[in-house]
Amino acid sequence: MDFTISDEMKMVTEAVGRFVREKVQPLETVTEETGQIPPEALAALKAEAQALGFYALNMSEAAGGGGLGVLDMCLVEEQLGQTSDALIRRIFGQVYPMLDALTGDLRERYLYPTVRGDKICAMAITEPGAGSDAAAIRTHARLDGDHWVLNGTKHFISDGDIADYTIVMAVTDAEKRARGGITLFLVDRDTPGFRVTRTQKMMGHRGYGHAELTFDEVRVPKLQVLGEVGQGFRVMMANVGGIRLGHIGARAVGMASRVLDMMRDHAATRQQFGQPIGDFQMVQQMIADSAMEIFATRMMVLNTAWEVDQGLDPRDKVSMVKVQASEMLGRVADRGIQIFGGYGFTKELPLERIYRDARVTRIYDGTSEVHRMLIARSIIKRGLTL
Ligand SMILES: Cc1cc2nc3c(=O)[nH]c(=O)nc-3n(C[C@H](O)[C@H](O)[C@H](O)COP(=O)(O)OP(=O)(O)OC[C@H]3O[C@@H](n4cnc5c(N)ncnc54)[C@H](O)[C@@H]3O)c2cc1C
Repeated sequence: MDFTISDEMKMVTEAVGRFVREKVQPLETVTEETGQIPPEALAALKAEAQALGFYALNMSEAAGGGGLGVLDMCLVEEQLGQTSDALIRRIFGQVYPMLDALTGDLRERYLYPTVRGDKICAMAITEPGAGSDAAAIRTHARLDGDHWVLNGTKHFISDGDIADYTIVMAVTDAEKRARGGITLFLVDRDTPGFRVTRTQKMMGHRGYGHAELTFDEVRVPKLQVLGEVGQGFRVMMANVGGIRLGHIGARAVGMASRVLDMMRDHAATRQQFGQPIGDFQMVQQMIADSAMEIFATRMMVLNTAWEVDQGLDPRDKVSMVKVQASEMLGRVADRGIQIFGGYGFTKELPLERIYRDARVTRIYDGTSEVHRMLIARSIIKRGLTL
């Protein structure tokens, strides 16, 4: 395998990294303190990111995006990981690649405005009674003339409170479920019967919201199906790999690298017992362990992304990356706080935010336990070898 980074990609990642450090990071504190990205600064930075071609880099050029492959996108995500999820989401866009499958009028109404940054899209799978077991969702849709009629409840939906439209997973055939009985619907915010019932405050992710959504006899035109009727589960599963690699794997490498840089600088300058704390072996161990883990995770991300770009389907490796990256980030953030001592615990540094934000990466997009179960099953039952 070849991880040679092209000169063009080196320029792109350097430019994105500089933009993140110089322009986006300064907004982190106010976003944490107020729970909101200052609207004027946000509009200016989003416009700048769009003008520089940094918006929706993962989407195809035909859709108006940057057209990056999975490996190249992971290199960009490492740079984006140098700031918070909320800022990444708003300034650089987080467009679900599955929208590219839309055709005709739906491309005009949903895909292009989302890639341009004019519309916000949420993705609603999880329900109070169905999280890890997504195939057990109860939200259902019945056909009535030329409309589908949706009923049910979703929760924890990122951006659900402000999204212009939501991709909603619902059961269309209760017998078949994940095997041909689940469909994805595009539901506009102003559709009668659709309600944001409450927002759900989280431990981290300040700067954007998570919401409970209810669907009460929501009529969705038959045309507003993403993919084919009954194929929603398959479409979703085909799309989560890229998200897990980029948003979680590569972004965690970026976040952890930022923490490592902070550890290094602090260990060199903080004096205790008459010497820099970096001279103490126990501090050195925390730094060395973090560096090794980041390096190993990075190799896993790039290797797996490369396989995806080759047209392979490394889903077990994606699961391994998801678990490794999220747990690595938690350990590195924890060591970062430890090396900074009391300062690490204050809100004067980004460490405590990273520590809180890191925690959810072990939960969403499949919990560590579920991914471990999938990996073990592949090894034991299907004879997976590496
Ligand atoms: C901040 C945040 C943002 C989110 N954004 C979205 C979003 O935009 N859209 C969306 O649809 N969802 C979203 N989610 C939901 C998220 O995907 C779910 O929380 C996640 O899938 C876990 O489901 P659950 O919370 O119901 O936990 P459960 O599935 O109830 O799991 C509880 C515990 O049981 C364990 N467990 C479950 N099954 C097994 C098993 N078979 N073997 C071993 N252990 C098991 C789990 O690992 C976990 O430890 C978000 C969640 C959070 C916290």
